[in-house]
Amino acid sequence: MALVAVSIHVPTPDDVETGLSQSTSAIEEGADIVEWRIDAWPGMEQAAEAVDELVKNASVPSILTVRSVAEGGEFEGTADDISQLLEAVHATGTCPRYIDLEAPMWLESEALRSAWRDMGEDTGLILSRHDMLGRPGDLLRAMADMSSIEEAAVVKIAWRARSARDSIEAFDVLRTRAKPTIALCMGEAGLPTRVLAGREGAFLSFAAGTGGPTAPGQCSVRDLVSRYRFRELDAETDVFCILGDPIAHSISPIVHNAGFADTGFNGVFMPLPVAPGWESFKATVGVLLEDGGFRLRGLCITLPHKEHALRFVKESGGTISDIAQRAGAANTIVVDEEGGLRADNTDAPAIVETLGIEPSGSRIAILGAGGAARAAVAGLVEAGARVDLFNRTPERAQALVEAMDDHMCTLGDLDELSGYDVILNTTSLGMEGGPDPEANPLESLGLPDWMLEEASVVYECVYAPRNTPLVEAARAAGTTVVTGEAMFLAQARRQFHAWTGLEAPFESWRQLID
Ligand code: NAP
Repeated sequence: MALVAVSIHVPTPDDVETGLSQSTSAIEEGADIVEWRIDAWPGMEQAAEAVDELVKNASVPSILTVRSVAEGGEFEGTADDISQLLEAVHATGTCPRYIDLEAPMWLESEALRSAWRDMGEDTGLILSRHDMLGRPGDLLRAMADMSSIEEAAVVKIAWRARSARDSIEAFDVLRTRAKPTIALCMGEAGLPTRVLAGREGAFLSFAAGTGGPTAPGQCSVRDLVSRYRFRELDAETDVFCILGDPIAHSISPIVHNAGFADTGFNGVFMPLPVAPGWESFKATVGVLLEDGGFRLRGLCITLPHKEHALRFVKESGGTISDIAQRAGAANTIVVDEEGGLRADNTDAPAIVETLGIEPSGSRIAILGAGGAARAAVAGLVEAGARVDLFNRTPERAQALVEAMDDHMCTLGDLDELSGYDVILNTTSLGMEGGPDPEANPLESLGLPDWMLEEASVVYECVYAPRNTPLVEAARAAGTTVVTGEAMFLAQARRQFHAWTGLEAPFESWRQLID
């Protein structure tokens, strides 16, 4: 069973108490072993005594690590400085369970090797290499060389992932390991290597404690153990990812993982950033699907890849739901046991379901002409509504009208702004981290405020934050508001069912995001 290691940065020997208190919280949250990152300690007074205190007072085994600047840490000294620290630690009688030494230093310094040997048999060697820029060119050779060093109890390789491809390669390293191995990718794209480390046979996975990450992309120990259910994942676990850029704000991982836990479904859901553009989308999905051991069973797709998702499934010979076809965009891909693909758009029915009034016969002003607008138009027109599009770039709205090719979908006319039952915002204005979080899209598009008062419903697709400038303006006008979470939950419920065949625990989801 792979261990959950929490990595704690302890800046100086004076910070031992803070470090120990962070380790107590991490252990309560599920850490099995603690890595003390004491990068700046070699040469400092009281360093050995402070190590002794850390190791003796932690209630789980310790890894002692001095990480060099070259490998992503802060240590600027030489291997000899580390040897002296080890000798001094040994003199206190303390035996950390493991000492992490970087392979280049190990190979270069007989003094370091000798100081490590003197520590005795109770201290294991983790021989490591880190590349902060990207995949090491000599990855396989480096693993073979490190594994062949007899003294190494564990070998560790970590590099900064540029894409999901790196994570799959890290799994290959684990699957072909010659001895206990840690293979991790840093950065957002490396999350699968942290979450799936155990089921891929890694010796351990590192997570962050309350002091924050010590390497890019480390999730908190609480997320690793509770959200991603690290210890429950096994070879049968189905994997689901949300692909997009940016992706960090998404609440899909929170609700879907909670849904798997609630329903007892053996699955895990992770956010994976995919750079804009068809080529990156195609390459990422291709590599995830190719790796049978990864068990990719479903994708949630967000901005800017919904059209790419549809194209990918089409070009792979998969099936496409009528509504996704009509919208020209997919937010959901289901992968069956044989690798067959099905694309769907759950945004469209979610908007119809949560609109707040009967769509048939209603007149709706849609602000925006991007992916969410496509879903709204496809769903609402099918449900019998008449929709008019208002967008900053009129050509894009015109293209959407032409693509829909339906007399119920037209361009908005600035001279006929009266009589809308619903004002529906699909622009990203008002979104946290979006183009203008302070903007009210109605104002930005030059539309008058009185439209809010006249409408029966103001529907906001943006869900972060909950109270966007549009939502606040609509509330002030006394109009009924549907916020983005209603749409979010309704579309997520459909995705959950499409992937698992189960009903989502809707009420507990609602409480979770409240
Ligand atoms: P998108 O395809 O990138 O479209 C963005 C839209 O916003 C376009 O119409 C764009 O106009 C407009 N826009 C962007 N910046 C603007 C500005 N400064 N002034 C005026 N208009 C601007 O994005 P999307 O996929 O449709 O998503 C839009 C929003 O809906 C996002 O906030 C997303 O989180 C949200 N959403 C929520 C859910 C949910 O479940 N609640 C589901 C899907 C989407 P141009 O054409 O002129 O660029």
